[in-house]
Amino acid sequence: MSIEDIRALLTRASKWSIFVHRNPDGDAIGTALGLANLLKNLRGTSVTVKVFSPSEVAPFLQWLPGFEEFVVVFNSDRAKQIADYVAHSDVIVCVDFNEWGRLEEMYESVVPLIEDTRSTSGKPVVVLIDHHEDPRIEADISFWDSRAAAAAQQLWAFICAIGAEEFVDTDCATCIYTAIMTDTGGFRFNSTTSEVHRLAGMLIDKGVKPEEVYTRIYASFTFERLQFFGMAILYRLRYLPEFRTAYMFISSDDMKKFNIGPGDTEGLVNYTLSLKDTVLGALFTERQPGIIRVSLRSRGKLAVNEIASRHFNGGGHKNAAGGVITNMTIEEAESYWLDVLSEYASVLRNK
Ligand code: 5GP
Ligand code: MN
Repeated sequence: MSIEDIRALLTRASKWSIFVHRNPDGDAIGTALGLANLLKNLRGTSVTVKVFSPSEVAPFLQWLPGFEEFVVVFNSDRAKQIADYVAHSDVIVCVDFNEWGRLEEMYESVVPLIEDTRSTSGKPVVVLIDHHEDPRIEADISFWDSRAAAAAQQLWAFICAIGAEEFVDTDCATCIYTAIMTDTGGFRFNSTTSEVHRLAGMLIDKGVKPEEVYTRIYASFTFERLQFFGMAILYRLRYLPEFRTAYMFISSDDMKKFNIGPGDTEGLVNYTLSLKDTVLGALFTERQPGIIRVSLRSRGKLAVNEIASRHFNGGGHKNAAGGVITNMTIEEAESYWLDVLSEYASVLRNK
């Protein structure tokens, strides 16, 4: 599709469905709400927009402008209503994920339907705004670049391409800024280029208050959550200097004890890599018996998305990836993990 086609779509399309991946992070929700706010600013009441999340959104993201208005969390009671909305949508936007499977619980309710209506009527148009390697979603319009620091940077590319910068108000800018801040670990990761800083600067010029965003995202721990982090570091952190690896296994009992909900483990994995000289860090959280979420982080050349896709049925970026272990206890999963590590022993020792 040409830029003219996209501009035409923006003036015509009145019903939009925006999708984010399960356990949406700051980039997913920030980018989705950035786009929702932009559409509202562009089109006012002539457009309806919904952001569909397959699972609950972490409390520290719920303050984002437009959250109440746009975000709908999927559950089986709402499945039909959501499917109806999606079936009548003019545009579907996939934000911060590269394969439909990342919709998990929501997949069955919407994906076959989208494919069906597309094959009969050519509608809805599918737009991809993402930065994960190897996109598997066949989109009509794609704003995708694996070098982008965040999906939000690709949203910005989209906004520039259609010449809509003036419709980015403080609310929209705050969503985009939050997305970039969270996906760059507070402007610290390798992906933080001068261009990222220039974009952040432009967003501040639009009225974003960096300290306020920082406080709402990073300084918003409940007492229990902070104690949980302390417990995890004190009792669950394992360090294997010979592999330059640190990791933690968190059981569902640990989570229950500290009342840990969706998104509350966000950021915990980063402590594994904060240990001097580590090149690989991992966090394993038992969501329910038999389902262990995996978060991997690396420094330098070690590509954790490869480890995630080969061993944990997942994927992600070179230095930040995730996946899942099913049908194993914590003890079995740890022994599986140690086997995986020994496979990478030479890389881990020599890096
Ligand atoms: P996190 O560890 O913060 O959950 O995820 C790190 C990165 O890996 C994110 O970019 C996320 O989108 C990706 N990721 C996490 N879990 C999965 C998964 O199950 N499959 C795929 N393909 N990517 C994942
Ligand atoms: Mn992202």
